[in-house]
Amino acid sequence: EKREIAVPSRTKEILAKHGFTFKKSLGQNFLTEPNILRKIVETAEITDQTNVIEVGPGIGALTEHLAKNARQVLAFEIDDRLIPVLADTLQEYPNVQVVHQDVLAADLLRVTHEVFEDELPIKVVANLPYYITTPIMMHFLESDLPVAEMVVMMQKEVADRISAKPGTKAYGSLSIAVQYYMEAKLAFIVPKTVFVPQPNVDSAILKLTRRVTPAVEVTNEKEFFKLTKAAFQLRRKTLWNNLQNNYGKDEETKKWLQDSLTVAGIDPSRRGETLTLAEFAALSNEMEANKP
Ligand code: SAM
Repeated sequence: EKREIAVPSRTKEILAKHGFTFKKSLGQNFLTEPNILRKIVETAEITDQTNVIEVGPGIGALTEHLAKNARQVLAFEIDDRLIPVLADTLQEYPNVQVVHQDVLAADLLRVTHEVFEDELPIKVVANLPYYITTPIMMHFLESDLPVAEMVVMMQKEVADRISAKPGTKAYGSLSIAVQYYMEAKLAFIVPKTVFVPQPNVDSAILKLTRRVTPAVEVTNEKEFFKLTKAAFQLRRKTLWNNLQNNYGKDEETKKWLQDSLTVAGIDPSRRGETLTLAEFAALSNEMEANKP
């Protein structure tokens, strides 16, 4: 009986066998604690009725656990040096397909269509490369791929921001961008000691569940997200200040902003971080309806 890939001694052997050296620029911190991997798979509730997309399989530590539980696993890995390693470590899992590609450049709809043989719920499960956590999250959320759930590891600080509630320091346009599509829950914390090499900060597992419909009804999504970004541009400024800075200070624009705020029932002297998704939606919809 072979030891799991994530067992520290086995990981060490694999790295040595292939002469692998870590690339910091690719966010390579590999998990070497099987219990954490089991917890991730449990949190994601993966069964043989689930297809899984993994981002950055590394040497396959998490992939192996996914393969044992899911119907099929599709894993995107950017580092060409890892492709032969994965062919070696995952050879006994025929339900895994590794695609050598930058996930951000991937046509997710097309690749999943090609790889997954059955139409089953798709879950994204990954220990993300931390330098591009947000772009990867947004790539999935904004794609037309029906992702039912995402269970993803990231820096704790980013997980806090994504799951933040209005009125907290961590709440910002990222919280809104993600919570618009998904319900976000911090599942558990992962200490930095379970990785090789060790990152500088602790990590967290975030569980995101797709909402049947977006959290709020907006008439123009693009403008809604533009507004939420504008509202947080300078965090210590009032909403009024940030809106004028972004939309314009001429009389016509000011009147438009003022009227929209009034009808939406929002005090312009508030700070962006105090507004709920519903308030941002109301304001955005008013602005849309009365565009100068
Ligand atoms: N899943 C492994 C584990 O948990 O041990 C490795 C996780 S490591 C934090 C991140 C992985 O993402 C690395 O294997 C890295 O090469 C890969 N990666 C980095 N940027 C990527 C990208 N743009 N597309 C796909 N994979 C990427």
